[in-house]
Amino acid sequence: MKIIEDITEMHSLAMQLRHEGKTIGFVPTMGALHQGHLSLMQHAKKESDVVVASIFVNPTQFCPSEDYKEYPRDMEGDMEKAKGAGVDILFTPAVSAIYPEGYRTYVEVEGLSSVLCGKVRPGHFRGVSTIVLKLLNIVKPHKAFFGQKDYQQIVIIKRMARDLNLDVEIAVLPTVREEDGLAMSSRNQYLNKDERMSAAILYRSLQEARSLFEKGEMSTEKLKDAILSAFMGNSSAKLEYVAIVHPEISEEEKDVQKGTVIAIAARIGDTRLIDNIIL
Ligand code: AMP
Repeated sequence: MKIIEDITEMHSLAMQLRHEGKTIGFVPTMGALHQGHLSLMQHAKKESDVVVASIFVNPTQFCPSEDYKEYPRDMEGDMEKAKGAGVDILFTPAVSAIYPEGYRTYVEVEGLSSVLCGKVRPGHFRGVSTIVLKLLNIVKPHKAFFGQKDYQQIVIIKRMARDLNLDVEIAVLPTVREEDGLAMSSRNQYLNKDERMSAAILYRSLQEARSLFEKGEMSTEKLKDAILSAFMGNSSAKLEYVAIVHPEISEEEKDVQKGTVIAIAARIGDTRLIDNIIL
């Protein structure tokens, strides 16, 4: 596995690979890799000649009050894991190279960035869309792979790709979960033992809503109530929001149907976790 820090070197190599007729699959990450990330890399390997993964903890997607400094970093462990997952090129640019002095340009996907998580994380999705566009421009992939776990992020990136005529296919892969259903996340490392047990409530509550839907319940309110009451029985998990929305997330569904998305965010102690299911 080749490790590239330099933006120009990454860009030139991508151009050369394209010139040779190789297809490039790309998996952007913030590192502290877990099986969720690795599944994207393994999948990219099956569908592309060359797999590029990036590790970049992107400062512009963290709000001032958030955990940018504390965000888990493990470059050595990540290198081993990425190599094991079949990554050919690991791109690890420096913050000062991505955002040099005088940097001023940001991408805003209007409307979609200010709902759900965007309400509590102002500026977050502006940072996400900006870094993703920059990385796509540098890595020049034919196909980029993202996880369903960050559902709003996918909707925003797909919208950006359409709106800006990006020449890349956006692929979405299922959420990889721990045995008790908790969606894998780099932030799960923050949880102590009790919090880790409580955290299973996120997926459990979604499952309860799904089971109601499968029994024929179509009312958004009833499904919301099921999630709220699941959280009521768990004192250390605080539900931040539950949204039952159209797959494009811009509108709340009046009645639930196949394809409707249920997205939730919750705080377990100081840790903010998200999850979602597509009915
Ligand atoms: P992150 O490092 O958290 O920015 O995530 C990098 C990519 O991995 C994003 O496309 C995420 O949606 C994806 N990802 C994170 N956790 C999971 C998971 N548990 N299952 C599948 N994909 C994931």
